[in-house]
Amino acid sequence: LYVDQPLAQGQTVPLTKEQSHYLFGVMRQDNGAVVALFNGVDGEFLAEVTKANKKNGEMACRAKTRDLLMPPDVWLMFAPIKKARTDFIVEKAAEMGARRIVPVNTEFTNAERIRQDRLQAHALEAAEQCGGTYVPEVTDLQKLDRVLADWDETRHIMFCDEALVGAAQVLGDVAADKWAILIGPEGGFSEAERARLHELPFAHAVSLGPRILRADTAAVAALTIWQQHLGD
Ligand code: SAM
Repeated sequence: LYVDQPLAQGQTVPLTKEQSHYLFGVMRQDNGAVVALFNGVDGEFLAEVTKANKKNGEMACRAKTRDLLMPPDVWLMFAPIKKARTDFIVEKAAEMGARRIVPVNTEFTNAERIRQDRLQAHALEAAEQCGGTYVPEVTDLQKLDRVLADWDETRHIMFCDEALVGAAQVLGDVAADKWAILIGPEGGFSEAERARLHELPFAHAVSLGPRILRADTAAVAALTIWQQHLGD
């Protein structure tokens, strides 16, 4: 269970109304039950229910069971698509160990805005579900050209597009340990965006194979290839 509270041995952890309702109402847990807690910073702790109240429960941290498992340094940048598919991308990126998830507005992006809070909640649920101890931050929607203008050049970009070279080859050839994967919208990148990306020495156009994948499939495929080469 994710809690937005510091965790340490002996620490009392107050639960929110939603968490209390879930644990004691839905899951029917009671005093003495032991639950694994994480907060994305301190690792994972086993905690015992000390107040099984459906409105404001409490737990006591007992033993630390795992250190924080910081995922390798890859971000996923993608142009939001339809709501359900955007949710899917965020969920899978969190499961696949993206360290940060960055929705970007491109020329052909359909979404004018996103519900950042909802997407962050999806990332959190995915981290809980897959036993992660880290929750990737989902940033607000930003314009791609703005993001590139402020870019830290030590982070290389694996820019997925029609390209002659495969993603695996680029990851093998380029010596960088901080990466971002960039996936375009259903309509792809505009010629101006392509030209801009091709100009940047830290951006590498890569192919994910001969078939045109949907953006959500492309995001999962690109993360899989990245993790296979540089992940842990
Ligand atoms: N008609 C669009 C085009 O010509 O670019 C297709 C866009 S595709 C549905 C959505 C995004 O997924 C692309 O912008 C790209 O980032 C990624 N993608 C899909 N298939 C890919 C492939 N085979 N290689 C590299 N990237 C791919």
